[in-house]
Amino acid sequence: MTGIDDLPIRDELRGKSPYGAPQLDVPVRLNTNENPYPLPEPLVRRIAERVTEAARGLNRYPDRDAVELRTALARYLTRTTGHPVELAGVWAANGSNEIIQQLLQAFGGPGRTAIGFEPSYSMHSLISRGTGTGWISGPRNEDFTIDVAAATAAIAERKPEVVFVCSPNNPTGTAVEAETVLALYEAAQAAKPSLVVIDEAYGEFSHRPSLLPLIEGRPNLVVSRTMSKAFGAAGLRLGYLAADPAVVDAVQLVRLPYHLSAVTQATALAALEHTDTLLGYVEQLKTERDRLVAELRATGLEVTESDANFVQFGLPQSLKGGGGGAPGEAGGSVPAIDAHAVWQALLDRGVLVRDNGVPGRLRVTAGTPEENDAFLDAVRDLMKELNR
Ligand SMILES: *Cc1c(COP(=O)(O)O)cnc(C)c1O
Repeated sequence: MTGIDDLPIRDELRGKSPYGAPQLDVPVRLNTNENPYPLPEPLVRRIAERVTEAARGLNRYPDRDAVELRTALARYLTRTTGHPVELAGVWAANGSNEIIQQLLQAFGGPGRTAIGFEPSYSMHSLISRGTGTGWISGPRNEDFTIDVAAATAAIAERKPEVVFVCSPNNPTGTAVEAETVLALYEAAQAAKPSLVVIDEAYGEFSHRPSLLPLIEGRPNLVVSRTMSKAFGAAGLRLGYLAADPAVVDAVQLVRLPYHLSAVTQATALAALEHTDTLLGYVEQLKTERDRLVAELRATGLEVTESDANFVQFGLPQSLKGGGGGAPGEAGGSVPAIDAHAVWQALLDRGVLVRDNGVPGRLRVTAGTPEENDAFLDAVRDLMKELNR
């Protein structure tokens, strides 16, 4: 049988695996940070209307510059961040993953590098690799905040062309302070200058204001957003960025013509008409997120503070087998158990969470109150068994 490595594939792709959060059929799926609430019926009907209208014109290519949609996105950003954003400073694509790809096509590429502070969103490194951009893994503190001194030193030394800052950070949930972004931006300008991309996929779930106002007077700062999480529309594939209009001009040099279908544009416009209802779900999810943090802590687990719609948790030291040795290695009096074994034990109890490969940690998405109860019950059941 022919394998990938038998093909004349690019060397840097040999032996690599594709992005792959498992899509398993289990009762409670809390593994990909989706919004658990289906779109409300009035919005579903509005999408049908808008798409019907768009269908009448599908013999023609869509609006290449998605002007109506970008105008609506600019209005949404202006309203929710308090910072005036205009059409010329907004760009939209098929998910923020495509936004990131277009940015790397324009600002990264062969002979250039990008840096991110890990653990963070794995697509930043994967899309870097896919665009031939070298990847630099920058450090974080023990508490998963960005180590500003180490990060600025890494930027000064390695001089990357692109700097990724994920806030709130996936998979840890950690928000980044504005002062940290400014320090990284200054370091990146002094070193190169380079493009700093703030991935605010979870911005709407944060306790803190958006970092978007920082783009003012900083032409090399980009904020990327998505309708996949807060708008509950992961299936729509709509991401966008806000930046200096020159950045929007730059991505137009690499985007495929007519990349955003008329159906996508019509659907996103319908969703934006229902912003208030959708942001109401965000408030419910924030409450559930805070409840997950509190109740997981009450069971004795180590929980990272979260500004997103998910929570990172780890086993207490007493259950990690003492010495932090390899999985299965005997530590203290309690047998060692690693994150993946906990992931499997929760799956056996009908709850799918995410193992992002962060040692000793797992990530759970805030679901409906019922889903979260099922998850918490599974955790308590497992903890009882482990403490026995
Ligand atoms: C989910 C997520 C995205 C969203 O990607 P889309 O392509 O818009 O669905 C982007 N960045 C981060 C950090 C994410 O977790």
